Amino acid sequence: MSKNVHDFFAPTYGDARQRFLAAAAKSGAVVTKHIHPLKGPSGEELALDVAAFGPLDAKRVFVTMSATHGGEGFLGSAAQVGWLTEGRYRDLPDDTAVVLMHAVNPHGFAWLRRVTEGNIDLNRNFLDYAEPVPEKPEYDKLHAAICPDDWTESARASADNILDKYAEEHGQKVLNRVVMGGQFSRPDGVFYGGTAPTWSRTTILAVLDAHTAEAEHIALIDFHTGLGPPGHGECYIVGNEGDPGVEKANDVWGTDGVSVLAASGSRSAHDGYNLTGIARELAPVAFYGNTLEFGTHPLETIYRALRADNWLHVHGDLNSDFARSVKADLKEAFCPDSSEWRETVYQRCMEVWQRGMTGLASL
Ligand SMILES: [Zn+2]
Repeated sequence: MSKNVHDFFAPTYGDARQRFLAAAAKSGAVVTKHIHPLKGPSGEELALDVAAFGPLDAKRVFVTMSATHGGEGFLGSAAQVGWLTEGRYRDLPDDTAVVLMHAVNPHGFAWLRRVTEGNIDLNRNFLDYAEPVPEKPEYDKLHAAICPDDWTESARASADNILDKYAEEHGQKVLNRVVMGGQFSRPDGVFYGGTAPTWSRTTILAVLDAHTAEAEHIALIDFHTGLGPPGHGECYIVGNEGDPGVEKANDVWGTDGVSVLAASGSRSAHDGYNLTGIARELAPVAFYGNTLEFGTHPLETIYRALRADNWLHVHGDLNSDFARSVKADLKEAFCPDSSEWRETVYQRCMEVWQRGMTGLASL
């Protein structure tokens, strides 16, 4: 393993952006910058930056996105910077374009948050807002326990007690689904999908529109961290087993380490799922979306970090020692400070990326 892998991982959003833009400039990519209306915590400019290769009228387009969940962007950014730095853009298959979208949620990346400005989970924000938003009565019932007004030890203990009881009664999986499935009624809560498209959603769709004018097949990797066994990179595609669309997606991504999230039911993708929304927007063009998810720490640790961050932004003081400790926990939850983890996940990113490029070329 080349020691350069560690150089692909930036310590902050601003640094990640500089590394991406420098590597993109060296590669000769066509670069476009989409500036976010807000600034980062140090007053830095925020942007979704794009590096594109290949013909604008390509029939096949391969896309990667980093930082859908803001602070999870360290790994996706490293994969994109590494792919550029290692010169993997050379020798692209015929009639194929590659589009790298860096920091699709730059606000969350810069502020070390999973969410966008407005506390919105971008991966629950791709509903068709012409329809009424889903109601989530179970979330509403548990909201006060998931997001207690106080974050003292005793307040947390009594809130956790309520959640533990719910899990005992209904099962942990049901509780996870209630918490994480997406909710649209509590802007101060977790996994809130919002009631309108965010800047990030609108900008992602505009970038895709600009780069896929003649596309017939579009494959996309959306990089995530925080769920699943540490270091393992599982691919999730959305559809129903046996659907021709799922079989085609398996032609692109393979079946090894690839799970199918049903379009509905208990194993389904969450409401407002980004890749479902993108597929809907791109239809009838064939779209093979892949949520590539890497575990970091146990789920309780991740939940705890996300709930603390939510409390901090709703009730707390961003210039406090508490804030610094919450952000340090989040950084570790999103991107562990472990050489072994970083080397393993980077290698897996390149493997999936290469597999997808080969699979797309074979269609
Ligand atoms: Zn994520």
